[in-house]
Amino acid sequence: MKENKKWYAIDNDTIIKDLQSNAEKGLTDNIIQKNHEKFGENRLPQKKKERALIRFFKHFNDILIYILFIAAIISAMLGHYVDTIVIAVVAFTNAAIGFFQENKAEKALEDIKNLLSLKATVMRNGQRTDIDASQLTIGDLVLLNPGDKVPADLRLISTSNLKIEESLLTGESVPSEKGAQTLDGDTMLGDRSNMAFSSTTVSAGTGKGIVVEIGADTEIGKINEMISEMDPVTTPLLRQTAKFGKTISIVIVGIAVLIYVFGYFFRDYGATELLMSVIGLAVAAIPEGLPAILSIILAIGVQNMAKRKAIIRTLPSVETLGSVSVICSDKTGTLTKNEMTVQNVVTRDNIFNVSGTGYAPEGKITYKGEDVDFENQRVLTKLIDCFYYCNDASLGLDENDRWIVKGDPTEGALITLYDKANLNELNITRVSTIPFDSEYKYMAILADTGEKKIVFIKGAPDRLLDMASQERSEKGVQDFDRKYWEDKIVKLAKTGQRLIGAAYKIVDSNTTKISHEDIQNDIIFLGLAGIIDPPREEAIEAVRICSEAGIRVKMITGDHADTAKAIGKEMGIGDGQKALQGRDLEAMDDEQLAAAAQEYDIFARTSPEHKLRLVTALQSNGFICAMTGDGVNDAPALKRADVGIAMGIKGTEVTKDSSEMVLADDNFSTIAAAVEEGRRVYDNLKKTILFILPTNGAESFLIIASILFGTMMPLTPVQILWVNMVTSVTVSLALAFENIEPDAMKRPPRSSKVPLLSGYFIWRILFVSVLIGGGTLWMNLNLIENGVSEIIVKTVTMQTIVIAQLFHLFNSRSISKFAINKDFFSNKAVFVVSALLIVLQLAITYIPFMNDVFGTYPLEAHYWIYPIVLGVVVFFVVELEKAIMNRLGLAKL
Ligand code: ATP
Repeated sequence: MKENKKWYAIDNDTIIKDLQSNAEKGLTDNIIQKNHEKFGENRLPQKKKERALIRFFKHFNDILIYILFIAAIISAMLGHYVDTIVIAVVAFTNAAIGFFQENKAEKALEDIKNLLSLKATVMRNGQRTDIDASQLTIGDLVLLNPGDKVPADLRLISTSNLKIEESLLTGESVPSEKGAQTLDGDTMLGDRSNMAFSSTTVSAGTGKGIVVEIGADTEIGKINEMISEMDPVTTPLLRQTAKFGKTISIVIVGIAVLIYVFGYFFRDYGATELLMSVIGLAVAAIPEGLPAILSIILAIGVQNMAKRKAIIRTLPSVETLGSVSVICSDKTGTLTKNEMTVQNVVTRDNIFNVSGTGYAPEGKITYKGEDVDFENQRVLTKLIDCFYYCNDASLGLDENDRWIVKGDPTEGALITLYDKANLNELNITRVSTIPFDSEYKYMAILADTGEKKIVFIKGAPDRLLDMASQERSEKGVQDFDRKYWEDKIVKLAKTGQRLIGAAYKIVDSNTTKISHEDIQNDIIFLGLAGIIDPPREEAIEAVRICSEAGIRVKMITGDHADTAKAIGKEMGIGDGQKALQGRDLEAMDDEQLAAAAQEYDIFARTSPEHKLRLVTALQSNGFICAMTGDGVNDAPALKRADVGIAMGIKGTEVTKDSSEMVLADDNFSTIAAAVEEGRRVYDNLKKTILFILPTNGAESFLIIASILFGTMMPLTPVQILWVNMVTSVTVSLALAFENIEPDAMKRPPRSSKVPLLSGYFIWRILFVSVLIGGGTLWMNLNLIENGVSEIIVKTVTMQTIVIAQLFHLFNSRSISKFAINKDFFSNKAVFVVSALLIVLQLAITYIPFMNDVFGTYPLEAHYWIYPIVLGVVVFFVVELEKAIMNRLGLAKL
């Protein structure tokens, strides 16, 4: 293994020089290209996957398959070699299908994970840009912000309150403080405070660092472990079915033994024949294909969601999404467009209007319709300057020549305001920064004007009101008139404007660093800007859809309560009257909060830790809770939520890592779409189970009844396997493509307490099993009575079960509604598989080779009447059952 240089013991200037970088501008294009050729891409080595062969054989490690194998061995011992071969072929086919499905599901998830590739913010050629972390190279200048995942090993060259969580490498969960000073050559990994290591996460502060190691050479690369391991492809529902399968197996073995004993002593069967029947029973009752089909339905769901911009990170959340009963959403950017425009500016003396929309610097600042003369508006000038210098965003043109923000949209709006004012640029150097954080809701910088040092602060006005003791008017600095500002804040907030205030403080000229304590009091308030951020139209529609679907939507915002209420009212969230404020929420105990969480729909002036309490409170009321988040501090709430939803665009890496789902477009309406898809998938899983299990049920019924009545065995084991394979593996796949039920988003969310196989479900499975099994038995007895030969009876019996199931497929397309409706032709897959099934059934009946293998006989046309008549009967009886159960209110799903 390559020994890394002791970067932490080399001083910054030497590193920057040696790596041909620049502490301000970063690398230039030609060095980047050279380094790319020399060092390759910045990728962590992938954890070795299990060999395909091993993964294939794992599919045999299943109790159901063991039973099949035992059946195969016993058949061989009895000299039924064809049966042995067919059973073995089926077991292999089943493993192969399982293996391919699993691969496909994993591939789908992996492709989706690739959509979430890690990004890094770098300075290159003097420009700040976001690039794919894999494109980083040695010498790159990386900017770190809270919530970032460090993209490579960096030697830090400047930091501001930077803290990094390194438990991945050091096991230490308390974030380490970072700095830029050179360290001794024998410093241990955990103490290398001037290094930021790949894959660790920034928990607070900001910093700049030079890339010194990439890919496999990074500390984490050396451990050679994939960080975000693939989640196992399983879900509660899959686990439930697997458990169900195991229970069935035990029951089957038990019944088989009982039946054998019964048959041996009370009926006139030979031991061999009886053993073959019991094997037939075991084979019949096992739903071999079910697990594979269920995982493919989930994988298709994941792909559909990705097409709708909802990227699923863990498979179980596909199911959970279908049962979500409350969505807690951030306001800014998710419910609203995040296209901020300053509309009003308020000083102690006047309220100004600002014209123009978006980020284009086109528009005017006016007072009572007249252009403003900035010479006579010194407070306004200072206010706008404060907004401009205490700001990290910049504006630019996109490829369509539209003005866009690079950085925070709120800050972008303030830059546009500055450009509209057209003020003279001041000669100011920034010495120190307190970055914005939703926790404390302001940003401050220490500015050196050459003559003096000033702290500029911008932030949530009510925060600044608490810190201010004076205000600035055209007359000069005067006592703070809190009442005046509170009135103005409420007035603007009621129009739905987002508010931001500005203040300053002159500090000692020796000051080189500022901290929160320095600005908690005696700041001089300058004024306010009111920013509009219009609601997204599609989000208004999505809120309506959610409310129809019985899902409560709650808005959680850092904005002022009046702003939140006004926007909420426009969007159909809350009544425009009530909002719970962060500080009131804080004063409540858990019980009070549980009640308040139900009552209120708008939570304003919240900070991230309130989100965690809210999720917990909602869950204690039995809600299945989806929660959105973007900042690093939102991560605990997202982890706690049933479905944590991270923003794909403005979300931090840490938030994405804690989430179940990522919104590629940050849009609320995407959540509604994902919930809709979740409901469709869950319904289709249920339909599939409802469809497949009666095949096994009917066959078992038939065999048990035959033994009890002492009649001929209705089907051979291979025929049973054929029936199971064609109905479960091929035909049922069509249900994966079934469209959403028309009322799926009009009914209340599924209760998490209702088990998959509810009482009604078990009833329906038994009912259909007995219907098909009983019908077939009746026909079977009839044919035997009429002296029809055994081989023909068996062939007709097999056809009858398959064709009855084909009709039942159409019943299963809707769980409780009438099957023939306007959506009858909406799922083409159903018709394709039906045609395929008919071809397969004709093949097994009329192709001589298949006759030999499966013990079938080319039927004369009139024998087809039995299967078709029973099929039609099954179809109508099941529809009748649905109608009656619906009428009686017993169809509880
Ligand atoms: P949400 O997405 O939860 O609705 P929000 O944008 O409403 O988030 P925050 O981002 O926490 O909530 O903002 C809260 C308040 O902080 C805003 O109303 C504004 O007054 C102030 N604020 C927002 N961005 C900045 C910033 N970059 N600098 C200073 N103050 C800011």
